[in-house]
Amino acid sequence: MLIVKKFGGTSLGDADRIRAVADHLTRAKKDGNDLLVVVSAMGKTTDDLIRLASDVSDVQPPREYDMLVSSGERISMALLCMALAGNGVESVSFTGSQAGVITDTEHSRARILEVRADRLTDALNSGKIPVVAGFQGVSTDHDVTTLGRGGSDTTAVALAAVLGATVCEIYTDVTGVFSADPRIVVNARRLARVSFEEMLEISATGGRVLQLRSVEFARNHNVPLHVRSSFTWEPGTWVVEEELEMEQAVVTAVTHDDSEAKVTVTGVPDRPGVAARLFRALADRSVNVDMIVQNTSLHGATDISFTVPRVDLDVSVQTCEALRDELRATGVAFDDDVARVSLVGAGMKSHPGVTAQMFETLAANGINIDMISTSTIRISCIVRKDLVEDAVRLLHSAFDLTQTT
Ligand code: ADP
Ligand code: ASP
Ligand code: MG
Repeated sequence: MLIVKKFGGTSLGDADRIRAVADHLTRAKKDGNDLLVVVSAMGKTTDDLIRLASDVSDVQPPREYDMLVSSGERISMALLCMALAGNGVESVSFTGSQAGVITDTEHSRARILEVRADRLTDALNSGKIPVVAGFQGVSTDHDVTTLGRGGSDTTAVALAAVLGATVCEIYTDVTGVFSADPRIVVNARRLARVSFEEMLEISATGGRVLQLRSVEFARNHNVPLHVRSSFTWEPGTWVVEEELEMEQAVVTAVTHDDSEAKVTVTGVPDRPGVAARLFRALADRSVNVDMIVQNTSLHGATDISFTVPRVDLDVSVQTCEALRDELRATGVAFDDDVARVSLVGAGMKSHPGVTAQMFETLAANGINIDMISTSTIRISCIVRKDLVEDAVRLLHSAFDLTQTT
């Protein structure tokens, strides 16, 4: 039985933690399992590297950025292999490139195109534990790429899919997926099981415990995912295909995300082609536009607001400004003091009234809603950033999520 085990930054935060992970792997190996390990960078290494880059220069060529930030995972993999060697367990480390993780050329948000896993299978066949640096690959142009923040989750799932692993275990610093970020809601409840559908929405709206792409990958390739703690080693949350008998809570989780900003283009003429022109230009600059709201037009002109990742705010505003005359817009404004709070739950499909209760809860506490978007199993509101954590706690208690079973 092959098990893929991925360890996040806190799980490998210092020498003791690395030895604790090595001891766990040593036991799992002795139990007769084949293991493949994916590691993240130690602790806050990736954040530190990103900060260091900014301290050095405002100009960060994408190729060099990836060369830099991918280095953290190299440290972890080598140290873990040393700890395993100390336990008498044979292992061998691989960078993303050596592991055969081939990606497209989009630096810092590359997508995995293919995995040429020969070296990994050779290592497995000779009884060794391959330890792979997560978050990175090599592009079709032979350059080092990275997969976006949290990308080690995606490396792990991709390798689990390609190698036909029985399960992909994601070890982190909480005991599973919770009804809200347990750092914000102290009585958040751990979910024993969550469907891929709900997990996709949770990851897409800020529940960073699993990178969104890893969940997409796991669903598309049917990889069973188990999110659990490397501190307590107790069973955590299984992310599974929705089953008919699966009980559907109306609301499963409250999530929040403060990584986006809002852009508004005002006074654009209400005629065909305006939105198409605007969003094509943004797409051509690789901006991932999220929520979009267009007002009903008054006197033939309308405002269009949308959210973008904060890192893409400058390029988004520049793109809109450049189109301002062509679109005959009256202005371009932005607001980076916003955050999104969302409710996710498969049972929403069949339960009207969730939206109303969400709005009432926010209203009763004086929290103004700036933008709204919905899917069949999610409702999101944009609110002031300094109120978003309050909003999470209020909604968690209004929907009684500590109790729901
Ligand atoms: P790792 O370094 O192990 O990849 P991450 O920081 O990426 O860890 O993800 C784990 C963190 O995700 C937790 O510490 C927790 O604060 C946060 N988190 C946000 N929402 C949730 C949620 N709904 N359930 C569990 N954790 C969550
Ligand atoms: N080290 C990378 C990050 O901090 C990748 C990961 O942790 O999954 O985003
Ligand atoms: Mg992570």
